[in-house]
Amino acid sequence: MPGTELFGAEERKEVNDVLDTGILFRYGHDAQRNGHWKAKEFEDEVKKITGAKYAHAMSSGSTAVATALAASGIGAGDEVIVPPFTFIATIEAVLFVGALPVFAEVDETLCLSAEGIEKAISPKTKAVCLVHMCGGMADMDPIMAVIKKHNLVLVEDAGQAFAASYKGTSTGLFGTAGSYSFDFFKIATAGEGGVMVTNSEAVYKIADCYSDHGHNHEGNNRGMEQHPVLGFNYRIGELNAAVGLAQTRKVPHIREINRKYKGILTEILSKTDGISFARLADPSGDSATFLNLLLPDTEAAKRTVAAMNEAGIGGFNYWYTNMYHFINQWDHLKNMKTASPLTVEVVGAPQDYQHLSLPKSQEVIGRLISFGIRCTWTEEEVKALANKISDCVKKALATAHA
Ligand SMILES: *Cc1c(COP(=O)(O)O)cnc(C)c1O
Repeated sequence: MPGTELFGAEERKEVNDVLDTGILFRYGHDAQRNGHWKAKEFEDEVKKITGAKYAHAMSSGSTAVATALAASGIGAGDEVIVPPFTFIATIEAVLFVGALPVFAEVDETLCLSAEGIEKAISPKTKAVCLVHMCGGMADMDPIMAVIKKHNLVLVEDAGQAFAASYKGTSTGLFGTAGSYSFDFFKIATAGEGGVMVTNSEAVYKIADCYSDHGHNHEGNNRGMEQHPVLGFNYRIGELNAAVGLAQTRKVPHIREINRKYKGILTEILSKTDGISFARLADPSGDSATFLNLLLPDTEAAKRTVAAMNEAGIGGFNYWYTNMYHFINQWDHLKNMKTASPLTVEVVGAPQDYQHLSLPKSQEVIGRLISFGIRCTWTEEEVKALANKISDCVKKALATAHA
């Protein structure tokens, strides 16, 4: 949780600016707000880091990915290729815009692979909702070739990959629209918040309206604005935006420290037999929020997890069984437990979600153990951690061979 580690005077200053005026709403009230436009400044800061032409801050990463899909024209009955390894918000966003998720394989990048996408394409496929996982990035050149070949819409959920890039382009900017999360667990937090980015003015304008009941935000009488499309309330408030602004300014610094510590961990651990790492499609673009270890197989990973628990090493995720980020834990999806009927239930699911065959994803996520990188560590702590991890892996692999 790098951002929350550095919560301090800068965040309090931005929040106090808002509290001093009491203007908690991001639009209008020009005379009373004393020049403070935190949501707009937050968006400008995100544009600066990502190079996006347009950025629109919202209430969460979930509403940002839902808006990215809607503003890209994805809706009722559209088949959308998604990964089985992501935070469930991606799948919910696809379902709640009325579209139909089609699960495809991820590979050692921890993201959908070009091969996985291509195998899942049907004549009804409209879009791919690609997720850049664990601070890294998908392998974009081969993926973009598949997207173009099949004339698909690409939307990117870069919820976990703000400030990551591939060959100089930020995650979130390869497709029609992309999204970042600023919830409490990401590289920077707004408390709750999300930002949608795009290089298309048309897509931005729809997102701007869609996330605020259709308001087009032109003129200075909110009650009489035009409403080009129906929308809903996905707005961010000024207090959350103020926190997001101060945090986002710290991201280049956080990323630099993360990369340094991840480098030290990687160097030490690469000397241990049996440890390899998730593949970074562009190592120089890593946001380095996670160190992603790959063990030889699922059993070795499980034994390593047990050894690390026994040794009291915390701060890691074994997504395969311990976290809510892999399809094996999504029983409510498999059993279609919904509060009210979704489009997918009315028109029928494109796959049998209870009996999906995703052997590659099962193999990779079974082997994966991810450590959150902390920018408040000392170098000594980083080295000590690497040695402890190494000991646990050696122990786990020794019992395997016994
Ligand atoms: C965190 C996350 C989200 C959801 O973001 P919230 O701000 O918590 O709504 C969406 N997608 C991915 C990949 C995430 O990691």
